[in-house]
This record gives sequence, C-alpha cells and structure tokens, in this order.
Amino acid sequence: MYNLKAHFYNPYINIPCNIGPTHPKYGGNTMAKEGYNPFKMAQEQFDRIADELELDEGTREFLRNPRREYHFTIPVKMDDGHTKVFKGFRVQHNDARGPSKGGIRFHPQETIDTVRALSMWMTWKCAVADIPLGGGKGGIICDPHDLSNNEQEQLCRGWIRQVAPNIGPVQDVPAPDVMTNAQHMIWMMDEYEAVSGGRYPGTITGKPVELGGSLGRTEATGYGVVYMLREALKEMDVEIEKTTASIQGFGNVARYAAELYIEYGGTIVSVSSWDQSDKKAYSFYKKDGINLKELLDITDRFGSIDKKKAKKIGYEVLPGDDWLTHDVDILIPAALENAITKDTVKDIKNSVKLIVCGANGPINPEADDILDDRGVVVIPDFLANAGGVVCSYFEQVQSNQNYYWTKEEVLGKLDNKMTDAFYKVWELSQRKKIRVQDAAYMIAISRVVEACKLRGWI
Ligand code: NAD
Repeated sequence: MYNLKAHFYNPYINIPCNIGPTHPKYGGNTMAKEGYNPFKMAQEQFDRIADELELDEGTREFLRNPRREYHFTIPVKMDDGHTKVFKGFRVQHNDARGPSKGGIRFHPQETIDTVRALSMWMTWKCAVADIPLGGGKGGIICDPHDLSNNEQEQLCRGWIRQVAPNIGPVQDVPAPDVMTNAQHMIWMMDEYEAVSGGRYPGTITGKPVELGGSLGRTEATGYGVVYMLREALKEMDVEIEKTTASIQGFGNVARYAAELYIEYGGTIVSVSSWDQSDKKAYSFYKKDGINLKELLDITDRFGSIDKKKAKKIGYEVLPGDDWLTHDVDILIPAALENAITKDTVKDIKNSVKLIVCGANGPINPEADDILDDRGVVVIPDFLANAGGVVCSYFEQVQSNQNYYWTKEEVLGKLDNKMTDAFYKVWELSQRKKIRVQDAAYMIAISRVVEACKLRGWI
C-alpha cells in the first residue's frame, strides 16, 4: 500500500550520508555552539550505559551514530521577488523498532549536531515508552518571525520535496517542534500527498484535529508527567492528596500537569513564567495553592502570566528562580533546559522528595549528582515527557487506519502506556539500586540493541 519509493527514487537528490558525525564535509562539530556540543553529550551518555551493558565495539559504533542523514538546500522565491536559499536536514538515528519519529525545528541557530543529538534521544524515548518507532529529527535554518506565511509555506513544501522519498508512514514520521506548528504540518502533509498521489495522513503527526490530528494531544505531555508522578508517589508510599508541588513554566506541559495534579488532590504553591517586556522570569506564589482557572485567565498565548493582575488577585510575584525554593514535596521543571544547576540546587529544600522533568534537560549533570546524594528521586525527561510522543504514535495509528478514537480512549491508552513504562524502569532501578535515569537508559538501549540483533544488523 505504501510503496512510495517506486514513485520517488531519484539518485541525484537526498543521497544518504553515513559518514561519521564529525566529518568536516558536513560541518561536524564546528556548527555546534562553542563549548557545548549536544551530540557529543548524547554520545557520552550512550557510552556510559554501553559500558554498563557491556556492549561490543561494533554495536557501540552502530548506535552512537545516526543511520542516515539528509542535507539539502531549499530555494524559496521571497515575496520581494528574490530567491533565498535555506539549508535543511533530516536525521534518522535508528529505525530498528519501527519508522523513525521526531519533530522538525525551524531555528536560526540550528546545527546538524543538535539535530543528530535530538534524533538519538528520540530513539531512546520511543524505546523506553515501548512504542514501535525509531528516532529521527529534522530542521531548517531559518527564523519564521522574518518570513511571511507564503514564504513559510514554500519552505515546508520545499523541505518535503527533498525528503519525500525517505519519509512517510512506513519510513519516518515528522511532527511539529521548536517554532513549527499544525499549519506547517498540514502544508507538509499536503505536499507529500501531492507528490505521492494518494492520501497518507499517517505521514506526519501534530495535525489539527479537523484533519487527522488526535484528541488528547494537547493534554498528553502534561498528563503523562502526572501519571509518572502518581505512580512514583505510590511506590514511595506517599499519598498524593497530602502533597504540595512547585512548577517552573506555565505553558502547554506545565498547565496540563497542574490540571491533573490538582484533580488528583495535590496543591501547587508556585508556578513561574517568562515576562517578555521585562525580559526575565517571575514566580507566582500562593501559600494555600494556586487556582488554575484564575491564573489561566490572566495568561497570554505564550504562557506568560500578567504580573500586575496576579498581584491584584493575591499572588506574591517573586524572582524567576523562587519556584524551586519552597518547602514542597515535588518539583516539576516544565519550562526550559538547565533550570536546576549546581548553583541553584542548593536552594532546593530538604522537603523535596521527587522531581519529575517535564522540560527537556532541566537538570544539569552536576546538580543531578547532588540530588542523587540527597536521595531525591528524579524521573528523567525522556521518560517523564514521553506522553507527547506516545500520543503522536496514537495519532499515527488512527491516521493509518483512518478511524479515530474518543479523547477518553486516547487518554486511557496513554495512562496505560506511561504507567507500564514507569514500572519497567522503576523495577530495574530498585533491583539494581541505580538512578531512575540510568535504568531508563538501560531499558531503552537494550530494547534497541535487541531489535537490531533480531534483524541481524549487528
Ligand atoms: P510552551 O512554550 O507552551 O511554554 C513554555 C513556558 O515556559 C511558558 O509559560 C513560558 O513563559 C515559560 N518560561 C520560559 N522561560 C522561562 C524561564 N526562564 N523561567 C520560567 N518560565 C519560563 O512550551 P511547552 O510545550 O510547555 O514545553 C516546555 C518544555 O517541555 C520544553 O523543554 C519542551 O521541549 C518540553 N517538551 C514539550 C512537549 C510538548 O508536547 N509540548 C513534549 C516534550 C517535551
């Protein structure tokens, strides 16, 4: 049914690149920010677990590099008549467990090493959540703020025309990511369908519900965080109704995590958000617990809370880092990376027993070690925020079968998947007396190794 390769194959475009990631021909490390190379970091994380799992050299070499990379240019006729050429990428780290899955980022500072790292992390995230998908990521070096709708549409269609032979429901399924949204996904799906001559809604996820998107996707990541939190508390013998929490952020992940946690009986004393006019973050504190609805009423579409209005309705407006300084049981960093560092970790009170990472990379390695010494349980990002990709997988399943589920059905299946993933990881971490994060990596990497072995690849 989906034999699209036959329609598309053109040996002169999209030549897969299996050259090592530091090969100068493709920019290698030079494209990464000075002093920080996310791909190197992802490889080091992998190497550490590979040692634990005693993986052989060939297996390590195979898994520490992407299987395929596509580098290409996209010419766009700009509104003023001149042609501008953009650079695009798609990286497929590993597809042993199923088609690659991962977002497409629009970013002026995009680097190939960032895309490589993110595609590798997607492989582990899909594996730890036990969904039959591999890891991929893509991007275009651009700033959509400087582009008209027409120029963005051309970029989306141009990106698809370059990767169409190598993506699709049975090869690689893109999704929205940094600075891309449902409209971009629909332009991309439409272009894919135009060049392939059929209807293939399972090509892409993150579509609007009216055109093949899944109900429950908006809630999925935040709810997934709280399914993990709920099960962790059970294992720690703590009643959720008696707990208090503090959250960094008030965007999509944070507010749905807050909604479900409050529904379960928990109390949130502080949330935080970015203030665009002051160019800094603020925390919003209420001793007896925030009221989600009243805060949402004074929050803009970017997740920024109006500080003047918040003061009026009884919130203390405090500095951005204040959210992590309270006597609470649980912290949920759900805004951005590097929120908890060796400098800020000392402000975390001894009352904190559990940290559930809604954001990607919110705890840096030094802070992680300190928290571990203090006996704080940390549920790592690629497990805790996997609800988003699990729901994207559900969207793909629904799109492929052309039959759509109710929201209750989606969220029920999501809860089952997340709970199951939590217990597999928790059991290993308890049995081996290792960090939850290490147990999660061990399970994810073992599953990918097993799939590669069963296929006879390694
Ligand atoms: P969002 O854009 O909807 O919200 C971000 C929130 O963080 C906003 O409330 C913003 O004001 C706040 N913020 C920004 N800078 C801040 C700062 N310095 N201090 C405090 N608050 C600040 O984003 P989101 O979709 O909720 O994503 C949040 C994090 O979760 C990101 O790391 C993202 O990569 C990760 N994540 C999101 C999803 C998803 O499905 N949305 C899935 C996986 C991971």
